[in-house]
Amino acid sequence: QALLRAVPSLTPRAPRPGTEGPAVIEVRSLEKVFEIGSLPARLLGRVPHRVQAVDTVNFTLSRGRTLGIVGESGSGKSTVARCVLRLEDPTAGEILIDGQDIARLHGPRALAPARRRVQMVFQDPNRSLNPRLRIADSMIEGPLNLGESRASALERAGELIEVVGLPRASLRRFPHQFSGGQRQRIAIARALMMDPEVIVADEAVSALDVSVQAQVLELLAELQAKRDLAILFITHDLRVAAQICDDVMVMRRGSVVEYGPAAEVLAHPGDDYTRALLAAAP
Ligand code: ADP
Ligand code: MG
Repeated sequence: QALLRAVPSLTPRAPRPGTEGPAVIEVRSLEKVFEIGSLPARLLGRVPHRVQAVDTVNFTLSRGRTLGIVGESGSGKSTVARCVLRLEDPTAGEILIDGQDIARLHGPRALAPARRRVQMVFQDPNRSLNPRLRIADSMIEGPLNLGESRASALERAGELIEVVGLPRASLRRFPHQFSGGQRQRIAIARALMMDPEVIVADEAVSALDVSVQAQVLELLAELQAKRDLAILFITHDLRVAAQICDDVMVMRRGSVVEYGPAAEVLAHPGDDYTRALLAAAP
């Protein structure tokens, strides 16, 4: 029955009043401009090509909540995520994680605490799991770097692999021995090893079949409730977002065109673009 609830349909996630904890991430006036153009071209005085990938984006993500970022390909969703993880330098704006502005921090050492708190699950499992490593070694990599003992990390890996619904024996295997859905479960378990406050899922279910998608969404929703996680859920599919997200932010060409409770955005899209996204969804 749990599965059925998550099967894609027109029904958005029911509003969950009172689930909102303290803000974990606050993004204020975030901007990212990519300057494309070779150095010689610039020296010759040619104006480099500018792409405003993200323009004045504001949002708040709280514990126990899921915020969806939705928009068609190229709308700036991944760039927002990469800025939040500080895989990109924001051009302007603030990224407050537990109140500290990480937009102005530079270098792995300064960013390490924020990077532990915010863990990413990618669309491509090969970006979350090294295909050449056994699952155990992928999962304990981060904790060992933080100084945890091998024995303790392995023990937790065994517990977490079961939490995501796979047997402990999976730890001895390699990524290619699992299906796409199982690999995403393992990627989620790997993220949980770092005991994060936030999980950023960038198109994490987009490559999966609809029924497998539903199972992974169900797992995320369950983990979120049990662990009081905040989830930033990125997808091009407004309907997938509606199933799991409490709030939805719709992006178009780098700007936010709509932001509100998922049920409201779906029932009364205030923007033509959002209506078009809804109409385009299968
Ligand atoms: P989405 O995730 O919504 O598909 P992206 O954030 O990946 O969108 O991209 C937003 C825009 O920024 C696109 O126009 C894309 O081409 C551009 N862009 C993204 N990354 C880079 C980069 N590293 N260099 C130049 N342009 C980029
Ligand atoms: Mg993207």
